[in-house]
Amino acid sequence: MVTRNALLFLSRREGLKDFATRFAPFKKMTTRFVAGEDIEETVAAIREINRLGCTASFDHLNESVTSVAETEAEVREYLKILARIDETGIKSNVSIKLTQFGLGIDAELAYRNARTVVAEAARRGNFVRVDMEDSAVTQVTLDIFRRLRSEFDLNTVGIVVQSYLRRTESDVRELLKIPARIRLCKGAYNEPPEVAFPDKRDVDANYVRCMKLLLESGVYHGIATHDERMIAATVEYAERQRIGKEAFEFQMLYGVRRDLQERLAREGYNVRIYVPYGKHWYPYFMRRLAERPANVWFVLKNMVKG
Ligand SMILES: Cc1cc2nc3c(=O)[nH]c(=O)nc-3n(C[C@H](O)[C@H](O)[C@H](O)COP(=O)(O)OP(=O)(O)OC[C@H]3O[C@@H](n4cnc5c(N)ncnc54)[C@H](O)[C@@H]3O)c2cc1C
Repeated sequence: MVTRNALLFLSRREGLKDFATRFAPFKKMTTRFVAGEDIEETVAAIREINRLGCTASFDHLNESVTSVAETEAEVREYLKILARIDETGIKSNVSIKLTQFGLGIDAELAYRNARTVVAEAARRGNFVRVDMEDSAVTQVTLDIFRRLRSEFDLNTVGIVVQSYLRRTESDVRELLKIPARIRLCKGAYNEPPEVAFPDKRDVDANYVRCMKLLLESGVYHGIATHDERMIAATVEYAERQRIGKEAFEFQMLYGVRRDLQERLAREGYNVRIYVPYGKHWYPYFMRRLAERPANVWFVLKNMVKG
């Protein structure tokens, strides 16, 4: 039996990462979750997403970067993405990870790199979402976000919170005081029970509690989930509180529950698809397998089929 924890453990193995990213058949199996290797392939995928009535968030895959030069290359990549979004007219913002900008080297470096990208987004009237990574960096990610938010307005930079963390409800309450635009997700990393609820029912109950706080706040937030129960709870709460469909957006991942993405868009909800691309797909891809271990068999079947 392939378990979530085993897949999340493998997602952090550098040796496997090197092997998998060099081995062509592995690359092929990522296409369900990863839009392509470069910006242009991703622009084409986003055009199709826009055609179906959804918006997107561009994500260049890379995390836990360990050299300053590589963090600078990441900044250049994001400046290119922001320019291509304008040139092509696609409806997309961008998502970044602070470890991609050097958080593992020096928090100040990550802040400066992120600031360059956020300043460019501000200049172009676009929006940067700071993804949330594992709990070792939750506090520093929130601190850097607060600094960015003090320099840029509500509609230029936003943050992510994870309902599996015990601290999250309190973080949401504090972030709403600024205020901040928040993406609410369940959380994708392997966390110890001291920091995260081990029981899925608690994660879901916290998700619903936080969703209500977000919807009540009057700020435009992202409700990121493929869980039909979380979606139904959001739809029901919005209707009960007379909160319009334009007041928030649902967010889902590229390649996950496309039927649901299209259905919600047809029903008039704002739907944003998170679209990752790039050569460093391994940890992202493994986290997607961990969310639904049945995906492992789907992927292996396709590999054998060629
Ligand atoms: C737009 C977006 C941005 C995100 N950003 C972050 C972030 O910054 N930090 C972070 O920690 N996490 C992030 N996540 C991931 C998130 O934390 C969850 O791990 C992921 O969304 C699965 O949780 P779920 O809410 O879909 O519910 P689950 O209870 O995990 O899944 C509900 C149902 O959705 C379907 N499903 C879910 N995942 C998959 C999959 N991989 N393949 C196939 N079917 C699936 C299945 O039918 C499953 O039964 C993001 C998710 C989204 C949608």
